[in-house]
This record gives sequence, C-alpha cells and structure tokens, in this order.
Amino acid sequence: MRLRHKPWAQDKLNEYPHFVPQKPEELVGKWQTRFAKEQPIHLEVGSGKGRFIVEMAKAHPNINYISMELQTSVVVSVLELQIEAQLPNLQIVNGDGRDLSQYFSPGELDRVYLNFSDPWPKKRHEKRRLTSPDFLRQYQAILKPQGEIHFKTDNQGLFEYSLSSMSQYGMSFKQVWLDLHTSDYEGNIMTEYEEKFSSRGSRIYRLEANFKT
Ligand code: SAM
Repeated sequence: MRLRHKPWAQDKLNEYPHFVPQKPEELVGKWQTRFAKEQPIHLEVGSGKGRFIVEMAKAHPNINYISMELQTSVVVSVLELQIEAQLPNLQIVNGDGRDLSQYFSPGELDRVYLNFSDPWPKKRHEKRRLTSPDFLRQYQAILKPQGEIHFKTDNQGLFEYSLSSMSQYGMSFKQVWLDLHTSDYEGNIMTEYEEKFSSRGSRIYRLEANFKT
C-alpha cells in the first residue's frame, strides 16, 4: 500500500527517479542494475527518517542498501539525506514490508534490518508487527538461504515477542544482546529512535537471526 494523500511528498520523490525508482515492482530480480557495483544487498524495512541506512551506506561501500518506508512524507526525509550524500549504493522505496515478494525475487537479498519497529502492543494488532509470522514469511521468500535478519528495539515486549515468533517459525539466533549499548558490539549506528530512547535511559535489545536451511 502506498500512501498518496500528501501530493507534495509524492512530487518530491518523483523528482529523483535515480534514487527513488518510480515503479519498484518492475525491478523484481533486477535490483543490482540500480547500483554502481554488483554486491550484496541489505534492506531496511521501516527506515523512518533514514539516518541508519544512510550512515550504513557511507560506512560500507561494499554493500548495496535499500531503504523501505511506508509513509511517503517520511521517505522524503530519507531522500533529503541521500540528495546530500549522493551515495551510489543506496536506493529508496516508498513501500510496505508486507509486500516484499512484489518487489524482490527469491534470494535477491542478503540481509533485512528492522530497527525500532512499531510495537503494536495489543494482541489484536499482532499481524502488524514486523516480526509476526506473515512478515517472517516475506523475509524468508526474498532472502538468500543464509540471509540474516538484524533487529533492534528498546521495547522489551516486542523483543520477547520477536524471539518467540522467530523461534516458533524455526529460525536460529546467531547472537542476542540484552543491553546493546553496554556490550562490546562494535560499529553500532544509532537510528533516530535509538538516540531518543537511549538518551532517556532505555535499554536497547538486538538480535541477529537466520532461517534454518
Ligand atoms: N527505524 C526508524 C528509527 O529507528 O528511527 C523508525 C522507527 S518508527 C517507530 C517505525 C517506522 O516503520 C515508521 O516510520 C513506519 O512508517 C514504518 N513502518 C511501519 N510498518 C511498516 C511496513 N509494513 N512497511 C514499511 N515501513 C513500515
């Protein structure tokens, strides 16, 4: 689902088709053609304003990155960072993580990042959580067999739910952090939400998981 109720935002995205493909559905299986170099592709679902993915793309020129965000007006913030940075290894999609198989072919991606996804604490909203089984099925469909999901959040309830949902789905955990910022994990790039919540004293949880083959 694309949110088109903010025409100014859509107009802005349309001005930069080399950064924001206008018909991403037509790139299924062809994403490497959008980048300067053919190299592993990492996708972030729910990028928000985009600081994480832009800084990751700067820090790791040997990886191609795709930012996916549902809200058109928020995608504009990612685009503004990219207009400034002009990164050859970053593409931006205004899309829904629920529809990943419409955008990517099986095995086209190497990693999915989920950062501070909306917790949707009510049980009746479980299906909207980005780590619910329907979403995991989407990630599995487009990741390489050894592809990974890297997830971080300040929300203990969502983290516990995600551990349980992934484990019931049959995934394996490579590593789990119960307090990322006091750990020896190197190279953490803070998202906008991470900075906000950690400055208020929240603990940050993180996991890396993959699908068993
Ligand atoms: N990752 C950013 C951060 O850590 O600062 C933003 C976190 S914000 C709480 C969650 C973002 O995920 C929102 O911008 C929301 O629009 C986006 N989002 C929620 N569901 C989504 C979906 N199904 N597909 C793509 N983006 C989604």
